Amino acid sequence: MALKSAYLQGVLETVKKRNPAEPEFHQAVTEVLESLENVIEKHPEFQAAGIIERIVEPERVVMFRVPWVDDSGKVQVNRGFRVQFNSAIGPYKGGLRLHPSVYLGIIKFLGFEQVFKNSLTGLAMGGGKGGSDFDPKGKSDGEVMRFCQSFMTELSRHIGADTDVPAGDIGVGGREIGFLYGQYKRLRNEFTGVLTGKGLTYGGSLTRTEATGYGLCYFTDAMLRDVGKSFKGATVVISGSGNVAIYAHQKATQLGAKVVALSDSNGYIYDKNGINLDTVKRLKEVERKRIKEYVKEHPQAEYHEGCAGIWTIPCDIALPSATQNEIDKASAEILVKNGCFAVAEGANMPSTPDAVEVFLKNGVLFGPAKAANAGGVATSGLEMSQNSMRMAWTFEEVDAKLKDIMENIYANARDAAAQYGNKGNFVAGANIAGFLKVANAMMAQGIV
Ligand code: NDP
Repeated sequence: MALKSAYLQGVLETVKKRNPAEPEFHQAVTEVLESLENVIEKHPEFQAAGIIERIVEPERVVMFRVPWVDDSGKVQVNRGFRVQFNSAIGPYKGGLRLHPSVYLGIIKFLGFEQVFKNSLTGLAMGGGKGGSDFDPKGKSDGEVMRFCQSFMTELSRHIGADTDVPAGDIGVGGREIGFLYGQYKRLRNEFTGVLTGKGLTYGGSLTRTEATGYGLCYFTDAMLRDVGKSFKGATVVISGSGNVAIYAHQKATQLGAKVVALSDSNGYIYDKNGINLDTVKRLKEVERKRIKEYVKEHPQAEYHEGCAGIWTIPCDIALPSATQNEIDKASAEILVKNGCFAVAEGANMPSTPDAVEVFLKNGVLFGPAKAANAGGVATSGLEMSQNSMRMAWTFEEVDAKLKDIMENIYANARDAAAQYGNKGNFVAGANIAGFLKVANAMMAQGIV
């Protein structure tokens, strides 16, 4: 479907032509431009200054060779990326993803989304993203360390505490951030807050590990409260069993919900009594095992091969927290049919565009990723502040700030949606609210 504005449609066509074979990037840009129709109509000055043409073009793309030696002595070569998308409101900020599916188009889509997400947090952070097609699964600690050291050897030239501050994403947790930080420090001989998600003994922030999952629940809770609902007594399905999923489970449970399903890239578990988080945390965080091992310890639970089946489990609230495009139209229709009344995205772009349409058409409360999962990067921003001050806040202090930020994000997305003629559509609201701050900063800074 063509966009109403010929200007926006023209920009979209150029993006597709200039970035061929990058469907995830096209998808992310299309969604944002669709949301901006009314904004462009009200603000012709953005068109005059070429804001849209500039905002869809990364400021810088770095792509590099990452050679390392595996445990058998064989040389391996991966490809590394850092996309520095937009620095209008602060240093580039965004995670690093290690997954075999990573290629330039994935990193661009994530970097583009990050620009608006970071703006929504209200903190001074531009947008960027990076990663590699390296697969940490099945690798020894030594192999992961050698890969991280090689990756950072090149990346270190392009980042800095006031330039670009990477963090974790899929495949990058505390272990990887430690190896990356150690190598940066060794190369540059400086102890700065150049990465976030650091360990607590070397500059990390309390609550960072929990932040994306907790923030997702704070956002969802605010959205539910607005219509007189809550997590209390609700049945929740969460996909994934990584960092976001685990802490979303923990917070949803604290808020009175029962989480009955989790997954990994092989399949999903269903436990009608509620999934035991201690078992999952041990299996995934300590033993690095597959989710199917859960049923060995909890024989009342079921394991099913394949990921999509998780959305057939009846639930009140769904929190997709694994990866992009994991809920398609058919899965969305099943969720609606089973009475699901709220969906909030822990992962980045987990719902396909026609799945989102199904949710919105059926009045499902829908929290889009760039608003709902912004708690991770917001707390990374708080880690940067603590590093700059050389101070550390308590868990309660950071958690309170995180909750406040998520509630503000919800209110801003809701209000922007209403103000620009899209009441109740938080996809449009988040895109508009995130866009306006960046666009105004770009306007003030001239043609750069
Ligand atoms: P983790 O690596 O900790 O966990 C990812 C989980 O998703 C794992 O259970 C993994 O299963 C599953 N998964 C990954 N890829 C696929 C796939 N292609 N198909 C099915 N399942 C898959 O990552 P995070 O929890 O950090 O990230 C999850 C999502 O949240 C991502 O979209 C990320 O961009 C987003 N996000 C993360 C933030 C953070 O702070 N960590 C912040 C904001 C967004 P398996 O183990 O089998 O690979």
